[in-house]
Amino acid sequence: MISDGLHSSSRTAARELVEEFKKFPGISLRSAQRLAYSLLSDEALKKSLEKMLALARSVEVCKSCGCFREVGGRCENCDTPGETICVVANISDMTAIKRVGCFDGSFHILGGLIAPLENSLPENLRIGELKRRAEEHPGVEVLLALPFSIEGDATALYIKDVLNSCNVKLSRIARGLPAGTAPDVVDHRTVSEAFSGKTIY
Ligand SMILES: [Zn+2]
Repeated sequence: MISDGLHSSSRTAARELVEEFKKFPGISLRSAQRLAYSLLSDEALKKSLEKMLALARSVEVCKSCGCFREVGGRCENCDTPGETICVVANISDMTAIKRVGCFDGSFHILGGLIAPLENSLPENLRIGELKRRAEEHPGVEVLLALPFSIEGDATALYIKDVLNSCNVKLSRIARGLPAGTAPDVVDHRTVSEAFSGKTIY
């Protein structure tokens, strides 16, 4: 037995567990160690983790719109486009907009913004899929709920160019959001004002 209470094989397992936890966004080495050691010493947490895994495996990301759906099931978001498709960078933006309740159409999640320096290129985003959805629903309004930042503006301009040949009404939420901020980090009132003040883009 060694001083930290772990044999060498269990120490290797613990170390590997820490490495796995570190893969999650926002988890530092210190947090990863706390999670790993809690998991190793708590049977109830092991059960929770099994449940989390089963839940996560029951859901997948729709290849077309980027929303979550049941594995192998139909995508409710794609099936009911409504009069407006709201384009956001990330799932957290969609969640924030839904929470505010200022929009009742469907969503399209790009999976990021165009940022060449960070290797986030248009072909890595769901922009082709957006065009396909726009073509399937002629006359639909495409509302860009993207941050007013260099990346947000570049992405909006790129989408405008791509949708140029489509029969869509393109609009963008008002500049109510602080520069560079996505809807998921601003308050209820700011988000609803940005939506009510949308402009033709
Ligand atoms: Zn979908």
